[in-house]
Amino acid sequence: MTKPIDTVRNVIALRQRIATWRSAGETIGLVPTMGALHEGHVALVSLARKHAQRVVVSIFVNPTQFAANEDLSRYPRDEAGDLTTLAAARADLVWAPGVQEMYGPGFATLIQPSGSALGLEGDIRPQHFAGVATVCGKLFNQVAPDVAVFGEKDYQQLCVLRQLVRDLDVPLEIVALPTVREADGLARSSRNRYLSAAERSLAPALFREITYIASGVSRLIGAKKPGLDASAVIKRLCDAAAVALIASGFAKVDYVAVRDAATLGPVTTSGPEAKTRVLAAVWLGATRLIDNVTVA
Ligand code: AMP
Repeated sequence: MTKPIDTVRNVIALRQRIATWRSAGETIGLVPTMGALHEGHVALVSLARKHAQRVVVSIFVNPTQFAANEDLSRYPRDEAGDLTTLAAARADLVWAPGVQEMYGPGFATLIQPSGSALGLEGDIRPQHFAGVATVCGKLFNQVAPDVAVFGEKDYQQLCVLRQLVRDLDVPLEIVALPTVREADGLARSSRNRYLSAAERSLAPALFREITYIASGVSRLIGAKKPGLDASAVIKRLCDAAAVALIASGFAKVDYVAVRDAATLGPVTTSGPEAKTRVLAAVWLGATRLIDNVTVA
């Protein structure tokens, strides 16, 4: 039987574990999660292990990144299952604070990101990235890791956190993991367990549509036709994908967009460094799915 994983719930105990490793000269990797772990999270732990000698996984369903009308109360929670998963994945420590430990009495400080936090998720969920940036800022200070590992699944979050680390001189490296998918292309997500069987069979259409847009944009950038209005072609591709998703049974499209992969601003098709990303957020019944792909 796998040994139960060491789990701490207050900052003092966390810092004691970290100090022991630091005094032995060991490096530390952090994998922040909200629990309800799946293979994507396990792959983050494996990647963290490649970059650091000790791996800390945080499990904290962060209330400040959910708006009042969102799914905080029904967000899936399975701590016992998560601890078993993380023991098998050979993480070293689970940091699982309660809300009171994370946000003590009188808590009143927020990190308010701008730049890549604006638009896309930022339009639909206006407080979301302040909540994400604040909790990740706290996790970075609590654990003081050498590396923190995040998934490309939440691509805008990844951009926001890279920006936070740069802007606030946080002494750690952010490492990104490409999205882990089901065999049919659906990005693994804790929220997939909300999908009915009928919704689950429709869900891979999201990945198919954004992949189709990515190949269209790739051809467009490759063609380099003078006088061609790239933004008009991109808009047509995104609009057509939204129409196709609704026609196939999706309830709502929050956005389908093509953006500069670093800034999440408008696409820059010139220059060898210019990279492009297709991002989308849609609803299948009462479940919100997000996904994104690179333009090769
Ligand atoms: P979550 O617990 O879903 O908020 O996510 C915790 C971390 O896991 C974030 O860095 C996510 O981007 C990452 N993650 C979630 N799903 C996937 C996936 N399918 N592939 C790669 N990373 C993921």
